[in-house]
Amino acid sequence: MTTLYAKELEIAQLAVQRASILTKRVFHDSAKGTLSKSDASPVTIGDFGAQALIISALLHNFPHDQVVAEEEAADLRANPSLRDQIFELVRTTKLDDVASEGLLGGAIKDADSMLDIIDKGNSKGGRVGRIWTIDPIDGTKGFLRGGQYAVCLALLEDGEVKVGAIGCPNLPVDDSAPLTADIGANATDEEGRGVLFSAVIGQGATSRPLKTGALAEGKSISMKPITEMSNASFCESVEAGHSNQSESAQIAQKLGITRPSVRMDSQAKYGSIARGAGDIYLRLPTSKTYQEKIWDHAAGDLIVREAGGQVTDTRGNRLDFGVGRTLATNSGVIAAPAAVHGQVLSVVQEVLGVK
Ligand code: AMP
Ligand code: MG
Repeated sequence: MTTLYAKELEIAQLAVQRASILTKRVFHDSAKGTLSKSDASPVTIGDFGAQALIISALLHNFPHDQVVAEEEAADLRANPSLRDQIFELVRTTKLDDVASEGLLGGAIKDADSMLDIIDKGNSKGGRVGRIWTIDPIDGTKGFLRGGQYAVCLALLEDGEVKVGAIGCPNLPVDDSAPLTADIGANATDEEGRGVLFSAVIGQGATSRPLKTGALAEGKSISMKPITEMSNASFCESVEAGHSNQSESAQIAQKLGITRPSVRMDSQAKYGSIARGAGDIYLRLPTSKTYQEKIWDHAAGDLIVREAGGQVTDTRGNRLDFGVGRTLATNSGVIAAPAAVHGQVLSVVQEVLGVK
């Protein structure tokens, strides 16, 4: 008997692992000042390169699936030297295990094919069929800062997340390492860092060291039960514009939480609470008009739920990934262990005045 989504899970993890190698190369080249003759930022180069590598692996294995990805190639078409610079990185980034690299289909043929591959991420999303969603570098500010960022990939089928993979090059490998206050800043990928989270619907969540070749062995992860709310901690965005930090402080106070929030960029927050390093992730809307993007949440939503959590918006509704490229019908995110989610939600609603 084959396990459901086994191939999708393997390809997703290998694709994230390979794209993570590219983002790390870009980070280190830019730190050394050897990155570029062009004016493009390391984020631009890393985003396009990682997206190209992931989509090429998906098209090789699942040619009929659609893809919703953050970037489009128009700017690169107008800038051949940037295109060539990115293609050189993409062409030379490989898993160092020949069989694993082979599973991803090997290298992209040429620079123009790379542009077409990047533009395959233009699906409108929706509630029908198989749609992959990609955030090639989630947490771009954290990436630049040497803090947290994540390479994120999820498979939606008929609007539901079935498979998720998140590569976090700068999180500790050790699932039980406590979240330190400087995790969002001082965390480049030296020894002991780099973790790959994954989940398949109904099959639990896993973490494994993020490697450069074949997949490492995985361990099952689960959220930490909260016995005393006063010992719990919040994870939230570093960017005050992405989540209302003064409201989250009021919510913490009402819940009796005394520890300061741990701030970090990207879906590393979902991974961190899923393995019990943190407890609760709050994302409180800062504007009425901003719509969350599906690629910022799909993988994290599944990984947390498969680790024993519940994920809803501030109205208590599950995140609806079948509406399109954005979570147009949701508002904010509350992710917490299932046993306390209701309690957290009711305090969030009290503070936000949501009905
Ligand atoms: P984080 O690192 O958790 O703060 O989230 C990073 C993501 O926030 C980016 O990938 C953006 O898509 C998204 N973002 C951009 N503007 C906003 C906003 N006003 N509110 C919430 N999220 C945003
Ligand atoms: Mg993002």
